[in-house]
Amino acid sequence: MISLPGMGLVWDALPEARVAGGAVRDFLAGVQVVEVDFAVPLTPVVVMARAAAAGLKAVPTGLAHGTVTLVAEGHGFEVTSLRRDVATDGRHAVVEFTDDWEEDSSRRDFTINAMSMDRSGRVYDYFSGQEDLAAGKVRFVGEARLRIAEDYLRVLRFFRFFARYGSRSGSGGADVEAVAAITALRDGVGRLSAERVWSELKKILVAPEPVPALRLMDETGVLALVLPGADVARLEELLKAMVGAPVDALLRLAALWRGDVAAFAARWRLSAAEAVCLAGLMAPNRLRPEDDDAALRRALADEPAAVLVDRSFLGGVGPGWEALRGRLLTMERPVFPLQGRDLETLGVKPGPEMGELLREVRAWWATGGCVADAGECLARVKRPD
Ligand code: ATP
Ligand code: MG
Repeated sequence: MISLPGMGLVWDALPEARVAGGAVRDFLAGVQVVEVDFAVPLTPVVVMARAAAAGLKAVPTGLAHGTVTLVAEGHGFEVTSLRRDVATDGRHAVVEFTDDWEEDSSRRDFTINAMSMDRSGRVYDYFSGQEDLAAGKVRFVGEARLRIAEDYLRVLRFFRFFARYGSRSGSGGADVEAVAAITALRDGVGRLSAERVWSELKKILVAPEPVPALRLMDETGVLALVLPGADVARLEELLKAMVGAPVDALLRLAALWRGDVAAFAARWRLSAAEAVCLAGLMAPNRLRPEDDDAALRRALADEPAAVLVDRSFLGGVGPGWEALRGRLLTMERPVFPLQGRDLETLGVKPGPEMGELLREVRAWWATGGCVADAGECLARVKRPD
């Protein structure tokens, strides 16, 4: 059974509730369930009243689309009223509440996402989701073309779930109807907000086996729309060498794609931190396994070990690279020992000249392997050459 602290209290207040969507899928797939969403055949107003009667905190997080968040034993649970679509526009739906479980299930995207489970552990599976999950099939509920035209985000969601549950059979094992529909309707991805696209892309990239999904994105023409210039073969090659590398969307992106980072960051509205990190990863990797300690110290003086280590995964393959990373992680980061005020003691006035002098001494310090101390650096200022 799925069991997270607080679930029992939610069920005490709402015995007719069922766990729905991803938690049921992950539980049946043997994946650890960390988040549980409930569905209920009750309106949000009734859910709020029941929560109040049970002494549970209820936050109306998305009343318009039927979601109340209940807090039990410190855990938040989204409780969403069963819905039916009244109108769709390619992204957002106008919904109506219902008490019909199958109707709610039929508006969910994929059969593996359309199951629910009651308190006794009974699974309700109206569209053969269990069978598809076991076979590694990501299939739309209903007609793929219609479901995509209702909400184009489902194109990218398909690849997210394919990467996680469908990639065992490789890109060739994907549902034929889904692939045909995505290929025909791929341009609808252009209607999605940049944030949505980037958020889905990251989820695809961090899947345990992202390559088959990305290959399928390539074959359906979706990859060229969101990531022109991507080279799936390069990612595949580098992933083999990246055993031990952090599972990181930006690192994998840097292995998959080469292009203008600033333009990419602006296009998909990356956060400032993400843009800086991506630029760091995509800077040329200058370190090589045969480099001596002085070269490593020079690199460490300019950039943190974490950046150098992550970037090294894009540099090359083999045990030498492992050793290089080990050295980077155990070496202390050299700090240039002079500051402007040290030069002031020599009578140098703050200004461009001081900056130039510091740069020159720092370059000398780096050339020497970043070992000279403050006294030696000052002596160098007094007597260049
Ligand atoms: P994850 O582990 O990635 O969060 P999830 O299944 O929980 O997987 P969510 O995006 O959190 O995915 O959505 C929760 C559930 O809501 C899905 O399992 C699916 O049933 C339904 N759902 C979410 N977005 C859509 C959509 N765009 N169209 C149809 N159903 C959707
Ligand atoms: Mg979820």
